[in-house]
Amino acid sequence: MARLLHENPPNGDRSQNDLPLERANRIDEQNRTRFGWRTYRMRMLGLALGAICVGAVLLEHHDSLGLWALLIFNGFIWPHLAYWRVQRSQEPVQDEYRNLTFDAAMGGFWIAAMQFDALPSALLMVMLTMDKVIIGGPRFGARTLGAMILTCLASSAAWGFAFQPMTSYPVVVACLPFLAIYPMAIGFATHSLSRKAHEQKQTLEKMARFDAATGLMNRQQWLYAVSIEMRRYQRYQRPSVLVLIDIDRFKQINDTRGHTVGDSVVEEFARLMKACLRDTDTGGRYGGDEFGIVMPDCRWEEAIVAAERLRRQVAAYAFTRDGLRCTVSIGLAELNPSIDSVSEWIDAADQGLYAAKRRGRDCIVVAPSPRSAAA
Ligand code: GH3
Ligand code: MG
Repeated sequence: MARLLHENPPNGDRSQNDLPLERANRIDEQNRTRFGWRTYRMRMLGLALGAICVGAVLLEHHDSLGLWALLIFNGFIWPHLAYWRVQRSQEPVQDEYRNLTFDAAMGGFWIAAMQFDALPSALLMVMLTMDKVIIGGPRFGARTLGAMILTCLASSAAWGFAFQPMTSYPVVVACLPFLAIYPMAIGFATHSLSRKAHEQKQTLEKMARFDAATGLMNRQQWLYAVSIEMRRYQRYQRPSVLVLIDIDRFKQINDTRGHTVGDSVVEEFARLMKACLRDTDTGGRYGGDEFGIVMPDCRWEEAIVAAERLRRQVAAYAFTRDGLRCTVSIGLAELNPSIDSVSEWIDAADQGLYAAKRRGRDCIVVAPSPRSAAA
């Protein structure tokens, strides 16, 4: 039998819901690792394809072995070295940006080394700037383009500004793989990046609205649901009940059994509560060991039946293998015309809850409406 009482006095205190910071940090860490891995793959592909274009020109110009050795280093060894460096770095993101700037500067060097052979030079300039814009935005793109132009001018000056812009057919053919494959690869990478960004946005939105431990709405989101119900009442006079539930002597559980057991009691309680909700009810974690339910289209007499079912289930439930029991106190408040705001409605239910605590806990108290109290 429910111990139903009607009373009215002050508010209990509540703790805030913490943001799940660890999950946000983990996502940040994953992003940084993925960023390094993605850049590594794109650098391997881009520099290898670029080296084929440059190699075709060096072959035509009968360039020195030293230049060939540098091309092989830049095209095929540097990507692994850059990745290795970033993996061991204390500031991986900053170092990755430095590596990208180096890539662009080397692009400038190769343009000068090719004596401005039109097609491969234009390709290097466009591709090496496009991927920088995608990775770091237009400002970073402009900065790396500046680095490329400076290196190009300095190297060209060292070669006496040699200028042979004509592109031969073999060089055109050597440029085709770069022209065809690299933009496609960037397209795929950008698409997968935007898909992941969308998924992460959804995860973060969910984290902002739901309590990580219980999967219930967090305080803010639940209060928003309460405010919607309140507006419905003001417009259509639909009856509605707000239920506040607090776990009894929860501090004692923490103190005697430890916080891990306390956490699992909260999770188990939330599971029991969810199982008791009707489809139209909205449950939330109000804070700490306090939970709330809005029951639309419902009078307090009906709400009590649901609340009593939950109270009994909790009291009979073994929360741990060795049979840890706990109980809950419940306060109810039905909407009425004298309640003008969400906080007044919450206060009313809170008065019921406070009364339930004072009456010895493990009971339900309906807060009287001011009108019925006056009567
Ligand atoms: P009462 O019957 O009057 O409600 O007594 P109580 O011990 O439950 O007191 P109160 O509700 O004020 O305190 C709840 C405590 O629960 C305070 C806080 O340290 C602890 N707590 C809040 N949230 C969590 C949680 O998620 N996990 C654990 N383990 N403890 C929590
Ligand atoms: Mg409590």
